[in-house]
Amino acid sequence: MAQPCVLLKHGEIAIKGRNRGTFERMLLGNLERAVAEVDPGAAVERRAGVSVLIGTVALDELVRRASEVIGFNLVQPALRVSKDPEDAASSAVRLLRERYPDAATRPRRFGVKPRRRDKNFRLTALELAAHIGQRVRDELGWTVDLDQPEVEITAEIDWREIFLSVDRLRGQGGLPVGASGRALVLLSGGYDSPVAAYRMMRRGLRCDFVHFTGAPFTGPSSTYKAYALMRSLDRFQGGSRLHVIPIGKAQRTLATSGAGQLQIVAQRRLIVRVGDALARRLGAQALVTGDSLGQVASQTLSNMATTEQATELPLLRPLLAWDKDEIMAEARRIGTYEVSELPDEDCCSLILPPSVATRTTDAQLSKVEERAGFDDMVEQVLSGVQLLDLGEQVRTGCAAPTG
Ligand code: ATP
Ligand code: MG
Repeated sequence: MAQPCVLLKHGEIAIKGRNRGTFERMLLGNLERAVAEVDPGAAVERRAGVSVLIGTVALDELVRRASEVIGFNLVQPALRVSKDPEDAASSAVRLLRERYPDAATRPRRFGVKPRRRDKNFRLTALELAAHIGQRVRDELGWTVDLDQPEVEITAEIDWREIFLSVDRLRGQGGLPVGASGRALVLLSGGYDSPVAAYRMMRRGLRCDFVHFTGAPFTGPSSTYKAYALMRSLDRFQGGSRLHVIPIGKAQRTLATSGAGQLQIVAQRRLIVRVGDALARRLGAQALVTGDSLGQVASQTLSNMATTEQATELPLLRPLLAWDKDEIMAEARRIGTYEVSELPDEDCCSLILPPSVATRTTDAQLSKVEERAGFDDMVEQVLSGVQLLDLGEQVRTGCAAPTG
C-alpha cells in the first residue's frame, strides 16, 4: 500500500499568523500550476505545515519541478504508508533497496529520525524508530549509527499516514509568489537584473518584465536574451510577460539635446519614467532594477538618487549591497547565467559619452529633459511597446492590468 509522493515543507509562511491561510492557498495554487505542466494528473493534499504531492509521472520529474516553486524550504521524495508499524518497517526496507540497489551487499551505517505530528499514535516516535531500525538491521545487515549515519531515514507520523524518506532537498524558501503584490522588473540582457527579479519573487512579488532596446539602431539580439531570461525565470512564478520597448530614437534626441556627460543618467531616467507609466497600466506597485552600489559609474549614490526622482513608485534594488561575484554565483544557481553571458547589442552602449558624470542633480537632468521635450518623448516611447508572452505571440500594446 506504500505510495510514492513528494513531501514539501512550508517555509516562512508557517510563522505568518493571521495571513497564513491566504498565503498557504497561494503557495498551493502556485505548486499546482507548476506541477500541472509536467503532470496534469497530479494532486496536492494539504497537511499542517506540509504539502503532499501525489503524481502520475516519474517522482524525479515531480521533485525537480516542485523544487522550483518558491515558498517551500524542504522537498522530500517520500513513501506514504499506512499507520501500521509493520507496514512502515517493511516499506522502509523497500525504500532503501530501491534507493540503494547494492543495499544488501554493501551495508551502511544508518539512523532513523522520527517525528510525531499525531500525538495520539500508539507508539512514541522513538518506539517507531526502534521498530524500523530493527527491521533494517535484520533484513539488510546495516548497523545503527545515530551520530554519523551515512543514511538517515526520516519517519514522520502524520494524522492519516506515515511518511518515510531518505533524501531531503533544499527548496527555494521565501514567500509564495503573489503574496507581496506585483512589480515591474527592468530586465536588461545582463547578469544583474534577472537575479534581482528572482530575489524579489522570493519575497513574494509577482513580476512583469520590461526590456528596452536601441531599435531602430540596434538589432534584436538583446530582445532574444531578455525573452530567454524571462522564460528561465518563469519556472519560479508562471504566467510571465515581457514588454519590449524601443528607445533608440529617444536616446538620440537626448544626445542632440546636449546631455553630454549626463547621457547615461538621462537614459536611466527615461526608462524609469516609462517603466513607471507601464507599471501603473499593469497594476504593478513597484519597479525593480539590478543596480548594485558603485558597480559602474551610473550606479553612484548620487546618480541613483537622480534616477529615482523619475518615479514615484518604490524603486526596489535588491542587489544594492551585493558584490559582482555574489551576483554571478546566484545567476549560476538559478540558471540565468548561460543566457546572460551571450553577446548582445545593448541599448546603453548605443551612445556612450567619453566620460560619465558620477555626481548629478535633478535640476541638471530636468534641464536636458526640458530641451528634449521629455513628456512627449515618454508618450512616444510608450506607444512603441510590444508584448511577448510565453505563447511566443508578439502583440502591439501592453498587457491588460491584473489585480
Ligand atoms: P544588468 O546586469 O542587469 O544589465 P548592469 O550591471 O549592466 O545591470 P546597468 O547597465 O547600469 O547595470 O543597468 C542597471 C539596471 O538598469 C539594470 O540592472 C536593469 O534593471 C536596468 N536596465 C539597464 N538596461 C536596461 C534595458 N536595456 N532594459 C531594461 N532595463 C535595463
Ligand atoms: Mg547592463
